[in-house]
Amino acid sequence: MNVVNFIAGQRVAPGGSRRHLAVNPARTTDLIADYALSNIADVEAAVSAARKAAPAWAAQTPGARGEILRKAAEAIRVRLEPIAQQMTREVGKPLEESRGETLYSARVLEFYAAEGLRLGGENLPSGRAGVVAFTTRKPLGSVGLITPWNFPMSIAAWKIGPALVTGNTAVWKPCLQAPFTSMALAEAFAEAGLPAGVLNLVHGDGFDIGQAIVDHPGLAGISFTGSQKVGFAVHQAASNRRAKVQCELGGKNPLVVLDDADLDAAVTTAIEGAFRNAGQKCTATSRVILQRGIRQAFTSKFVARAKALSVGDPADPANFVGPVVDEKQYDKVVGYIRTGLKEGATLLCGGDSRRNTEGYFVEPTVFDNVAPDMTIARDEIFGPVVALFAVDTLDEAIAVANDTEHGLSASICTTNLLSAHAFVTQAESGVASVNLPTAGVELQAPFGGTKASGLGVKEQGRPVLDFYTELRTVYMKVA
Ligand code: NAD
Repeated sequence: MNVVNFIAGQRVAPGGSRRHLAVNPARTTDLIADYALSNIADVEAAVSAARKAAPAWAAQTPGARGEILRKAAEAIRVRLEPIAQQMTREVGKPLEESRGETLYSARVLEFYAAEGLRLGGENLPSGRAGVVAFTTRKPLGSVGLITPWNFPMSIAAWKIGPALVTGNTAVWKPCLQAPFTSMALAEAFAEAGLPAGVLNLVHGDGFDIGQAIVDHPGLAGISFTGSQKVGFAVHQAASNRRAKVQCELGGKNPLVVLDDADLDAAVTTAIEGAFRNAGQKCTATSRVILQRGIRQAFTSKFVARAKALSVGDPADPANFVGPVVDEKQYDKVVGYIRTGLKEGATLLCGGDSRRNTEGYFVEPTVFDNVAPDMTIARDEIFGPVVALFAVDTLDEAIAVANDTEHGLSASICTTNLLSAHAFVTQAESGVASVNLPTAGVELQAPFGGTKASGLGVKEQGRPVLDFYTELRTVYMKVA
């Protein structure tokens, strides 16, 4: 199967001269695709198709649009297993997690299908006699959607679903690493009977194709998920041309463990948060902040569990940790591990690679004695690497948790209600959890970061419907 763009309802070869080599990160001899990337003419064609399709799509009832989302979800459910297997082959995600992500994508579309029927406004009392006042929602028109590789299907689904059900058309640029997973989502919409041009998929690099989408005057909104560096630039560029823009960015998520926590449950919470998807979640636990009374017991159990995690082929259910996504990510993660050692942190387990000729594997890595100004305490590593900190009090724990420019997700393990409440009210994060991992979101709840982790309206749940629509106020003199 070839890698193709979806433009105006047609499957067309990307027109650029640059190519991308996608390989299985668990077995680099397994070539997934050597494919051409798009050029600017492809972006122009996609935007023009989206704009042409916009009036008729907006004129459909939200219920009719939702019905197409529902059918796309059904198509995903029917092909769940092959999609999940492909996702695992493309990004190295453990198969069970790929199945979970695929199912989540279908459920997201079902959620927004139903939201179509609830896209209401408000009736307001008018101060003028004989006047009826109410609000309505209007789609933005056509929007640009840019997504990362770590959740190659679900993040796209949680942008496309609300964008389309509210009556927008879209141009979507996915990551380079998972072209067939992205195409499977576009195929599901095609199979569901989505009219030509409503969803256009263009494969391409960020610096040219992504940037062209962000800068395109024909796209009234931009929704971006990715790194902070790119996200800040995207936000600025889109704002400068007065497009509506929303960015969901990286994290450096803390898990606080207090002396009164259930020790075994806290260890499991940390393992789940830190090492699932090889730590490549924006919500992954990368800092564990331990109160001194529990520090030693937690550390020895946590390190023992981390060492025992089986690292290897993500398609084998026996393995908990798969590879990181590609060579660039591998070099980045190993580079941070080396920096941690150089800056004087104590390595408790893992460490430098166990890269073999087969794939980009990094063992679960735990550092102790991490000072707040060390690089590994501050930068998002996006790999299976955890830094441990010791504190005396809850206040100190909250201060360390908040001592970061990031603000995506923060958790605490405690059996004390007052401590839990103090933490969730004072943690500077878009998501705060008690006795649960930092990673893990629910589609009906809003999701996104504060501080440098998110700019604009939150995603998922209902609030994102505000991003994809303009609220309008109508006054009608009827008597
Ligand atoms: P990235 O910023 O490198 O790329 C994200 C997307 O942006 C890709 O499709 C890329 O091609 C595109 N892009 C790159 N340069 C661009 C430009 N100049 N203009 C427009 N688009 C451009 O991020 P990544 O490495 O793919 O993903 C990992 C990052 O994503 C991590 O920082 C992670 O925390 C973050 N992330 C955040 C969330 C969230 O919801 N907060 C979720 C998942 C991942």
